[in-house]
Amino acid sequence: MGRKHSKKRDAVLKAIQSTHSHPGAQWIYDTLKPSIPSLSLGTVYRNINVFLEEGAVVSVGTVGGEERFDGRVSPHPHLICCRCGKVLDLPCLSEGDGAQAAEAGNLPGGFVIDYRKTVYYGLCGECAAEAQVPPETAGS
Ligand SMILES: [Zn+2]
Ligand SMILES: [Zn+2]
Repeated sequence: MGRKHSKKRDAVLKAIQSTHSHPGAQWIYDTLKPSIPSLSLGTVYRNINVFLEEGAVVSVGTVGGEERFDGRVSPHPHLICCRCGKVLDLPCLSEGDGAQAAEAGNLPGGFVIDYRKTVYYGLCGECAAEAQVPPETAGS
């Protein structure tokens, strides 16, 4: 109903969809601010909330104190680096036992799954490599 077409709204959505880095609001703001000087962080948050309600983006969860978002809305597991906060997609591991049970309708108490969110925590390749370097030889 009468939703006005907003240039800022489009820009925020495009920014989220243009990257696979699963950005947070601050990244979106920093990215768009040079081309949209009147943009405020509040506007970014407000638009993200609308996209979440519409299902145009999904929340990956909070990483390092900041909520991160994904323009890829089909369910897929995420790999989150506990050290640098990098969020990666894990595209091919989508079918687990849980999914099969869900499809068969075999869930406890007749539970109906609305959506599924799988997150693996660990270290990304770069951080894992760094973690193996003794601190005194790691440089500054
Ligand atoms: Zn990392
Ligand atoms: Zn993702």
